[in-house]
Amino acid sequence: MAEAKRDYYEVLGVGRDADDAAIKKAYRALAKKYHPDMNPGDKEAEKRFKEASEAYAVLSDAEKRRQYDQFGHAAFEGGAGGAGGFGGFDFNGADFSDIFGDIFGDLFGGGRRGGRANNGPVKGANIRKSIRITFEEAVFGCEKELDLILKDPCEDCHGTGAKPGTSPETCTKCGGRGQVVYTSQSFFGTVQNVQTCPNCGGSGKVIKEKCPKCSGTGYTSSRKRIKVTIPAGIDNGQSVRIREKGEPGINGGPRGDLLVEVNVSRHPVFQRQDVHIFSTVPISFAVAALGGDVRIPTVDGDVIYTVKPGTKTDTKVRLKGKGVPSLRSAQVRGDHYVTLVIQTPERLSAEAKEALRRFDELTGNTLNQNTETGEKEKKKKKGFMEKVKEAFEE
Ligand SMILES: [Zn+2]
Ligand SMILES: [Zn+2]
Repeated sequence: MAEAKRDYYEVLGVGRDADDAAIKKAYRALAKKYHPDMNPGDKEAEKRFKEASEAYAVLSDAEKRRQYDQFGHAAFEGGAGGAGGFGGFDFNGADFSDIFGDIFGDLFGGGRRGGRANNGPVKGANIRKSIRITFEEAVFGCEKELDLILKDPCEDCHGTGAKPGTSPETCTKCGGRGQVVYTSQSFFGTVQNVQTCPNCGGSGKVIKEKCPKCSGTGYTSSRKRIKVTIPAGIDNGQSVRIREKGEPGINGGPRGDLLVEVNVSRHPVFQRQDVHIFSTVPISFAVAALGGDVRIPTVDGDVIYTVKPGTKTDTKVRLKGKGVPSLRSAQVRGDHYVTLVIQTPERLSAEAKEALRRFDELTGNTLNQNTETGEKEKKKKKGFMEKVKEAFEE
């Protein structure tokens, strides 16, 4: 106990002005290097590990670090007397949980999380698949079939993996628990590391004679065709859960589920947002001006809609109840919003051109039209538009 203690900064190999991150980093490196589990039976390593941990406990705590900077080791002497030979330093208040999570997490992998005994009934794992459907199939729902390889408990051995007539024996290494606990003495007291039993692989049972049908796995695999009912109103990215079509359960647990993610193909005309459908419908200038009937495609088939005289371009029309059924209630349907867009005529016959000119004359829109400059302007513009068109066609 009277042994001279090394300076904490020196122990961690950091400067006196090191920040918290540098101190933590230094400790992590040392703890990894000297941890007793990594150096079984190495007294020197254990000593180093304790030393580094003590230094870290002090320097990672702002208040303790301040005291240490001021008084050195004397700051922590006296109080806790002979508390375990650590120079009287009280470690109960030191918080190692975060750094322990960090260090032991990557040092020991999954070993520490195995708190559960492995021999109780466990639900099987879920299987994830995806399926592609059309826009209309998503709106109205559909039935699909999915081929997949599914495991089933072996019929010969009923999932035990043991040759019929024999049965698996309880693993002697772990006593059937499926896990083994390695105990080591460390600076923090007794450290327990729970690991999957290497003898039985975590099952708690050892098979002496393997079932010939399943080679001791307890399962057989076969291709299965599963019917998937896609409900009306499903949207891209949503999943359908089919219960108990996943991996078989363990030790009598239920099967996992099959989760089918639905990918909905884009539609050339319709866009969807939640339960509503959006589309654009062209109307002629004459229909917009005079009013008239237009044919609007909807997911229920074409609808004849009567456009009012004097309709402007980008007029929005709501077709109530022509949208997507709600997944929550099939009676509720969204709406279909149509944007009416007036088309500018492009390829016109001489007669049609004449009619349009006549139209402009009659409505008084003849300014500049028949003058020479007007004609020139038109030619220039046309030339420009044609260039634009060419650019898009390439
Ligand atoms: Zn079998
Ligand atoms: Zn075992």
